[in-house]
Amino acid sequence: DVQLSNRVNSIKPSPTLAVTNRAAELRAAGKNIIGLGAGEPDFDTPDHIKAAAIEAINNGFTKYTAVDGTPGLKKAIIAKFKRDNGLDYEANQILVSSGGKQSFFNMALALLNEGDEVIIPAPYWVSYPDMVLVAEGQPVILETTQENRFKITPEQLEAAINDRTRVVVLNSPSNPSGVAYTLEELKALGEVIKPYPDIIIATDDMYEHILFGDQPFCNILNACPELYDQTIVLNGVSKAYSMTGWRIGYAAGPAKLIGAMKKIQSQSTSNPNSIAQVAAEAALNGDQGCVAEMVKAFKARHDFVVKALNEIDGVDCIAADGTFYAFPSFQQVIDSRPEIEDDIALAEFLLLEAGVALVPGSAFGTPGNLRLSFATSMEKLEDAIARIKKALQ
Ligand code: PLP
Repeated sequence: DVQLSNRVNSIKPSPTLAVTNRAAELRAAGKNIIGLGAGEPDFDTPDHIKAAAIEAINNGFTKYTAVDGTPGLKKAIIAKFKRDNGLDYEANQILVSSGGKQSFFNMALALLNEGDEVIIPAPYWVSYPDMVLVAEGQPVILETTQENRFKITPEQLEAAINDRTRVVVLNSPSNPSGVAYTLEELKALGEVIKPYPDIIIATDDMYEHILFGDQPFCNILNACPELYDQTIVLNGVSKAYSMTGWRIGYAAGPAKLIGAMKKIQSQSTSNPNSIAQVAAEAALNGDQGCVAEMVKAFKARHDFVVKALNEIDGVDCIAADGTFYAFPSFQQVIDSRPEIEDDIALAEFLLLEAGVALVPGSAFGTPGNLRLSFATSMEKLEDAIARIKKALQ
């Protein structure tokens, strides 16, 4: 028999990918399923980005590049941080990886020893705890409430910190809640961390550009510039430019940490795809109008979805600040129906009875809610919500 490692036995497959696969299976069996599970924009990658990649292929830019990214892309990333975030980085503080997922994974492997603790606010992106576990670290989950807009408090953070704490993860706007911290809230969290210079703050800014309000994006370094030496910024082109399949993410932070992550990447995957790097460079340097266009569509869908969900009996959905996710509570529905035990059973019920695929909140550490991705057409969203309403009546 094949004996597997404790490492792999400690983790589960990505639940969001599992929902997508289950929807595909049912579809293949002839069922009419609306998939609202996937975490990717429904738009095509903009033409000028595709053109840059095609040109790269035609120019023979199809070989190994520097492990940490091409000089051109790193320059574009440095310029992006300056332009969008007011942050200064040198080339040795930047690492380009095969998606934002690999950036976080490299970080976990570079920072954690067995039992080292990583503070992760829930609801969290599904992959954080499992990547921490693969690195033999210990996820410490901070629960939040919908009443508090799924945000952790400074007191909660303070209480969770101890000598084993190595990393604090922040993801704003958040997958799955769509909620963003304000500058003041980030300042208060930063004040808590300031006395602990050995703790690394990982700010995952993947949804930076997908914001609906008038307030500009901010991260903890905008709130507390003095945390620069202990903060790593994770970002990528997947969500902002509808480039999920190209697999380009990047990290910026202390040179020592970035160098360690580069060493890990050099012995695992080496450089990210050469052609995709050229495409990412075009995305970051090019006209940003394509982003605004997608955000406008996401905002219209968000407004529709939140209103329509709240019109269903027993469903309670807060307005998001950004992203393309709604994270409604179905707790009242679950409580009022003995045959539906929990959010997982409810997701299964809605998949079979309504033909709508949603991700159970427990995958994100917050049972009682379901995540609905509105990165799909308004027409499908209208149909999906009507179906959910009917199935629950
Ligand atoms: N961070 C967050 C919060 C995400 O939701 C995702 C993707 O779902 C990622 C990072 C990673 O994105 P990718 O690896 O596709 O670049």
